[in-house]
Amino acid sequence: MHLKSMTLPEMTDRLKQMGLPSFRAKQVYSWLHKGVRSYDEMTNIPQSLRQQLQQEYPLFAPKVVRKQESKLDGTIKYLWQLADGNCVETVLMRYHYGNTVCISTEVGCLMGCAFCASTLGGLVRRLEPHEMLDQVLFTQIDSGLPVSHIVLMGIGEPLDNFDNVMRFLELVNSEDGMNISMRHISLSTCGLVPKIDELAKRKLQISLAISLHGPNNEKRSRVMPVNKAYPIEELIAACRRYYDATGRRIHFEYAMIDGMNDSQEDAKELLRLLKGLGAHVNLIPLNHVEESPLKPSSKKAVARFQQILESGGVTATVRRTLGGDIDASCGQLRRKHAKEIKQC
Ligand code: SAH
Repeated sequence: MHLKSMTLPEMTDRLKQMGLPSFRAKQVYSWLHKGVRSYDEMTNIPQSLRQQLQQEYPLFAPKVVRKQESKLDGTIKYLWQLADGNCVETVLMRYHYGNTVCISTEVGCLMGCAFCASTLGGLVRRLEPHEMLDQVLFTQIDSGLPVSHIVLMGIGEPLDNFDNVMRFLELVNSEDGMNISMRHISLSTCGLVPKIDELAKRKLQISLAISLHGPNNEKRSRVMPVNKAYPIEELIAACRRYYDATGRRIHFEYAMIDGMNDSQEDAKELLRLLKGLGAHVNLIPLNHVEESPLKPSSKKAVARFQQILESGGVTATVRRTLGGDIDASCGQLRRKHAKEIKQC
């Protein structure tokens, strides 16, 4: 395992095997979680140890391949190149409650959602915990903006990379690291039911978001193949179990697609589905992806849909679109870059 993916107790054990006292592990851990690019920056670590670590655990900082800053709202989108040459996207959004980083959890995605650019080239590989941490660290360093919130809503399906994602959460939450509160972290899933149950057992204080995008099996399956494996009633039952186990309200994401899932009947069906779940719905006007025939709903359809949910007692917000001028939607920048240079 990469040194930077180790928890502090694991690093302490590892350095102990190398004959070093535990305070050394704490120092190294703290440097790594500050985002040093080289062991030579660890000024309070003896030269010999720096060299030994460099040999055993070469340190690599992701490189900025592209950086796009929105003139509309200050959103910054990064395309990072990882140690093996693969690329992933990270987005920094500036909300009133704090700077929020949206990270990728995989290179590409297996899930095949019809509207999403991340899945077009399939799954290349899953990210290591430190590769997720690096996205947060280096976005903070490059932008000079302190990060207080994280959303796992970039490229990939976080629950398809369960163990690495759990470890990343532990790292980013650790007191000797970035110390970002679990309550400031949201994880979004397309609905892998057994993994939702596994997550519930951990009783984390994170926010769970479910990408729903359809009010029934027929409509959801049309755009989300995962629904064939885990149909909507099983997904909602898992959400209920999750809510009972953690007491945390679940957010449902609903991308509004013109003529597909945005009728008044759809809103009423969604309302019946979510009743009593303590649910909150985020309505997201679809971000048009070049390769897809699907179009966003009209403003009027979105407003009408929201009104039906609200009057039925389910809170719903229309998500403000950030970074509309910088290919900020899931997987769009990586896709564009890959087409232009035929790699990543
Ligand atoms: N795989 C996870 C994490 C991705 S989160 C999941 O499915 O939840 C990214 C969110 O943006 C998901 O809700 C996804 O469905 C949504 N999304 C992807 N492409 C989109 C697009 N073109 N327009 C609007 N929302 C999109």
